[in-house]
Amino acid sequence: MNYQKNQLVTIKIEDIGADGEGIGKIDGFPLFVKDAVPGDLVEVKIVKAKKNYAFARLEKILEPSPDRTDPPCPFHRQCGGCQIQALSYEKQLAFKQQKVKNNLMRIGGFEEGLLDRIMEPIIGMEEPWRYRNKAQYPVGYSKEGELITGFYAGRTHSIIANTDCLLGVTENKEILESILSYMRENGVTAYDEKTGKGLIRHVLVRKGFTSGQIMVCLVVNARPEQKNRIAVQEKSDVPARKKNNGIPAQEKMNRLPAWEKLSEVLEKIPGMTSVSLNYNWENTNVIMGDVTEVIWGEDTIKDTIHLLEVRGNDFYPTDTEVTYAISARSFYQVNPVQTEKLYSTALAYAGLTGEETVWDLYCGIGTISLFLAKRAKKVYGVEVIEQAILDARKNARENQIENAEFFVGKAEEVLPAEYEKNGIYADVIVVDPPRKGCDEMCLNTILKMAPKRVVYVSCDSATLARDLRILCEGGYELKRVRACDQFCHSSHVETVCLLSRKAQ
Ligand code: SAH
Repeated sequence: MNYQKNQLVTIKIEDIGADGEGIGKIDGFPLFVKDAVPGDLVEVKIVKAKKNYAFARLEKILEPSPDRTDPPCPFHRQCGGCQIQALSYEKQLAFKQQKVKNNLMRIGGFEEGLLDRIMEPIIGMEEPWRYRNKAQYPVGYSKEGELITGFYAGRTHSIIANTDCLLGVTENKEILESILSYMRENGVTAYDEKTGKGLIRHVLVRKGFTSGQIMVCLVVNARPEQKNRIAVQEKSDVPARKKNNGIPAQEKMNRLPAWEKLSEVLEKIPGMTSVSLNYNWENTNVIMGDVTEVIWGEDTIKDTIHLLEVRGNDFYPTDTEVTYAISARSFYQVNPVQTEKLYSTALAYAGLTGEETVWDLYCGIGTISLFLAKRAKKVYGVEVIEQAILDARKNARENQIENAEFFVGKAEEVLPAEYEKNGIYADVIVVDPPRKGCDEMCLNTILKMAPKRVVYVSCDSATLARDLRILCEGGYELKRVRACDQFCHSSHVETVCLLSRKAQ
């Protein structure tokens, strides 16, 4: 069959693709339709036809699927954030469970029967809205030249004006609107990617859900002064600056015109704890630069994560908790309610008795490491970003945890080097890599170290499946798998797996 661009066709959506798009077929020829959900009868327009499949745009819903809901966000179709908001939450969870299972079968080579036995039900959220503790808003201009902030439309860099994303905290609106008014009233410009001119690029807002503390970081298109660069590099262990003791007012005004006007409004927002500037003068898609300078308040905000006891499908409070200091640039899980369940599951899988030596690879600011340390004899964390390791060490000290040690470097370099040089040992290894998964060198060293158990925490089930295959071919057995919905309404899913070494 030959399908042409702009052709209109009517199809029934039967399946859902890895990115949450609806899939329907005409005579076996698959059409991928964004915003359509399984069960919908829809009229679509073909936008890109390939030899064996085509992409089409949803034009009209002729008969809605019983699994369709009315998405509460008016921008859900334009915005790149929530790919599956139109699907009922229950079906979103089923989709994610199936996505993990499919990847484990297709890429990992695991048998369906095994997965049906060992996969536990996905951990969903009771209230899947306003769950994000962090948001990064681009600042720019509308077509009419109005200053706006909001979100990039899917796969583009055009900004949809929206200061009240339903996944973010309610405070975002007031913070962003205050920043926009301040900019308008004081002639402060927004950055323009095309010309490289203009000052404000992004606004980052982060909130500690348990502490109520809020951090605002304005990413500016400017270079820091040399002395500030040094101050930041040496910052790690110095006590947090006291409110307004940071930089003399005159200096602040040089960098951010009429800064005190913005400060007056931000200070009044309950919970405001830290306001900083991050300098990024490069023409790049990377949001933040390397240098952050606190201009009001503290350099970090705090958040506490509680360990939960996992009993079957339920989670119960315990009195174990860890409090973390988080700086503007550090990685920190975005959904704190689910993070407690995720980490508690990982800890339960680790099966610690207090006697074990544990390596936590890709440890960030030591979030999982410090949890592990509460139940193990010794924990070693490895992370590539130096600032994160400085935060991890500080977090260990502030939580009176003395059995955790941290290394700066790539997991695939630190682990083999330590193994060859010092013959390091592990009873349990935990890995939590970014989307691209573990480097093969890292996996090979894990196989050589032969820990009893490996706990794999993953935000991409395709690379997870690839890595699990390598570990299982090298002598491990997949014992438990549990998906956790960290990113409700998006097509992403987090997964925790337990591997155990087969008896020799
Ligand atoms: N376990 C932490 C962080 C997970 S995110 C938590 O739950 O908060 C993944 C981390 O891996 C990031 O902090 C990133 O900086 C780090 N990272 C990326 N590539 C790495 C590598 N090759 N070796 C070590 N760490 C790496």
